[in-house]
Amino acid sequence: MRCWLDSCPKVNRLAYLLLRYEMNVVLLGPPGSGKGTQAELMHERLGFVHYSTGDVFRDHIKRKTPVGYEVKEYVTSGRLVPDSVVIEVMNAFIAEHVGKPIVYDGFPRTIPQAEGFGRVLDGHGLKVDAVVLIDLADDEVIRRLTARRQCRKCKKIYNLTFRPSRKEGICDECGGELYQREDDKEETIRRRLDVYREQTEPLIKFYEDKFKLERIAGELGRDKVFEELKRILETGKE
Ligand SMILES: [Zn+2]
Repeated sequence: MRCWLDSCPKVNRLAYLLLRYEMNVVLLGPPGSGKGTQAELMHERLGFVHYSTGDVFRDHIKRKTPVGYEVKEYVTSGRLVPDSVVIEVMNAFIAEHVGKPIVYDGFPRTIPQAEGFGRVLDGHGLKVDAVVLIDLADDEVIRRLTARRQCRKCKKIYNLTFRPSRKEGICDECGGELYQREDDKEETIRRRLDVYREQTEPLIKFYEDKFKLERIAGELGRDKVFEELKRILETGKE
């Protein structure tokens, strides 16, 4: 398959610029805003390393590292992993990927995490280069997330609006039954949104005071949001 980067001189130039520089980009946004998808696009098309606390935790647990054991204990007992552990994990991640552009997907989550993050970057001679908030109204978050369905067998995720299966209620890949996870029910989503607003509003203020925080409307959809993101990154580098 031909690499997308090779086919677009403009983005090729952007990727080239980014790959030559260490760049730390924070993506904030409510659940369902598509920040994970955007971080993946930045990884695939612009060569960013994708940092997601959850994925990195799962990786440590899988590799049975000392931190992995610690995190597993918190997770299995249903307790929140303390900020100090989150920061420790992030520090190790940065040390491992020094010299590469990194996109932080939904991290930091709280002000103490943001402060710890700043100190860690400082310790590596780095800084936060851009903070981008992909915003989405609560009603749209609920509309998007309640439309999610997952295959019981192979766990593939579908969306009744954006990515429906060919046959209603049946997985394209394995023929398994599609169902709505407890996480994707309206009541659960409203609770997650409450937590998000409570923790992230102060964080938005924190970054607005320190940096120029850029906002993109999540309603624009995947491709237009990515266009906006590239524009922001390119301006930031010139
Ligand atoms: Zn399936």
